Amino acid sequence: MKLNYTAPPIAPDSTGPIFKRLLKYAQNYRVGFILAIVGMVVYSSIDAFFFSQIQTFIDKGLTQKNSELLFYMGLAIPFIFIARGIANFIATYSLSWVGTHVVNELRQDVFNHLMKVPVSFHDQNSTGDMIAKITYDIEQVQAASSKALMTLVREGAFVLGLLVVMFYLSWQLSLVFLVIGPVVGVVVKYVSRRFRMVSKRIQKAMGNVTSISEQMLNGHKVVVMHGAQNIESDKFADITRKTRQQQMKLVSTRALSVSAIQIIASLALASVLLIASNPSFLDSLTTGAFTTVLTCMMTLLRPLKLLTTVNSEFQKGMAACASVFELLDEAAENDCGEKVIERAKGKLELSDLNFTYLGKEQPTLTDINLTIEPGTTVALVGKSGSGKSTITNLLTRFYEYDSGDIKLDGMPIRSLKLASLRQQFAMVSQHVILFNDTIANNIAYGMLDSVSREQIEAAAKAAYVTDFTDSMPQGLDTQVGENGMNLSGGQRQRITIARAILRDAPVLILDEATSALDTESEKRIQTAIESLSHNKTVIVVAHRLSTIEKADKIVVMDKGKIIESGTHQSLLAQNGVYRQIYDIQFVGH
Ligand code: ADP
Repeated sequence: MKLNYTAPPIAPDSTGPIFKRLLKYAQNYRVGFILAIVGMVVYSSIDAFFFSQIQTFIDKGLTQKNSELLFYMGLAIPFIFIARGIANFIATYSLSWVGTHVVNELRQDVFNHLMKVPVSFHDQNSTGDMIAKITYDIEQVQAASSKALMTLVREGAFVLGLLVVMFYLSWQLSLVFLVIGPVVGVVVKYVSRRFRMVSKRIQKAMGNVTSISEQMLNGHKVVVMHGAQNIESDKFADITRKTRQQQMKLVSTRALSVSAIQIIASLALASVLLIASNPSFLDSLTTGAFTTVLTCMMTLLRPLKLLTTVNSEFQKGMAACASVFELLDEAAENDCGEKVIERAKGKLELSDLNFTYLGKEQPTLTDINLTIEPGTTVALVGKSGSGKSTITNLLTRFYEYDSGDIKLDGMPIRSLKLASLRQQFAMVSQHVILFNDTIANNIAYGMLDSVSREQIEAAAKAAYVTDFTDSMPQGLDTQVGENGMNLSGGQRQRITIARAILRDAPVLILDEATSALDTESEKRIQTAIESLSHNKTVIVVAHRLSTIEKADKIVVMDKGKIIESGTHQSLLAQNGVYRQIYDIQFVGH
């Protein structure tokens, strides 16, 4: 697992395209979007209208003592607020409706895409990082698409409304704001750039926190056994310290920016008073107009402040969005093949095959030539790291080979549709993967629609699963727990064998790992595997020679090359590497 979280590359001027791409997700929810914007604009217009009436209230109502006007104003106020409330509800509801839909779609896309990217992508990116993207990053996007946009449009409209009222009443005083405006703009621009930078680092740090916690939790026993608590704890402390520092930077930038903008705005107010103190100017303004302009200016501070903080929120969302889109832009597996086959006979031909793992300098497989006839069993033996599992990984196109070819029934595997190719294989590996579901559903994983309960039961019986489920109160419907926590190693292995039996694919890949099991389990599993291998092409990655003596062909590998091949007897007679391994294991017994 790699610890370094790949920070999203987001250039300061790339927010536009990212936002546009996010808006595309909102396109299907256009109606909600329009309703939200209308709601926000109505809401802000009502507020601005309210402010514009201060002048009437003071000049006509109070100064001219017009009691009728005051009476009707009083009557109108509750209705204005009812309208404002309705507009607010429509805006909030509609925007959240769009926001939650967009987030769901985005999350689904990311989830689906993670199942489309090649295995090598998963090798290079830690699970923690990916989970952080699905959870944390997408939450940040939601903050951008609903909360930030809500305030942005609403407060923006409010600022506009207030400016209109101000200019209508006294353009001279309002001009002061036009001078101050650009200064505020410059501050906002600087602040938003900084926010984006720091948010990016926080995201990176959050990915690291998840990764390192996950690593510690998964490997907790190893950590404890090696007394490495302090090392892990220090690593974690280092990462959380960095996260905290970045958070503090974000907070201090935010606090400073708010104060800076308020100070700049206060200069505007001061200028207004200085201008108004001029006697000739004072004569041309009514009390009501002056009070309204001044109130508007003071009121402008709040939406302006909100606009700057919301901008930071929005930038945070955009940075997260960039990271999510970057993942969505990862190339999917190259499913270039067109051919679909129902059921292969199971002949496999590997010719002049060469392969190097991404990031490795030495080739992992060199000039592999191997033909496997349908219905025969081939065993791959050799030291650990010699490339046995890699061969099986190439058969199912988990990785793309560099040169040479692999053919299934005479057809290059690249000419087949990936799904169709993979359908021809069943795999029983030492890394048992069970889903948090019942035993029966685990056996029928991915096939629930096409198999009957009887077929599941028959597979369970053939793999000796029923041996242990019969004594369980819920039998095959027992929950296995997270990755089969509630079961023993042997039981888990038998479930995967039952899965392979039910799958009934023409080629079976067995990554033998029975050594960790007790003799009873091992015997059962061996018998189960034998019944599973019947009439199939079988490729066994063998760790112990005792189980493969009957194989039709044994291939001995070393450093990515085939160094010997033949039957058990012929290889023994050759007196080569196979003989050496055999003797060591024989003596070992
Ligand atoms: P075997 O199955 O014989 O034990 P493998 O096929 O698993 O050997 O590994 C062959 C070589 O390839 C080893 O050196 C191993 O480190 C390397 N290797 C295996 N898997 C990967 C991977 N996903 N990414 C990079 N290198 C790998």
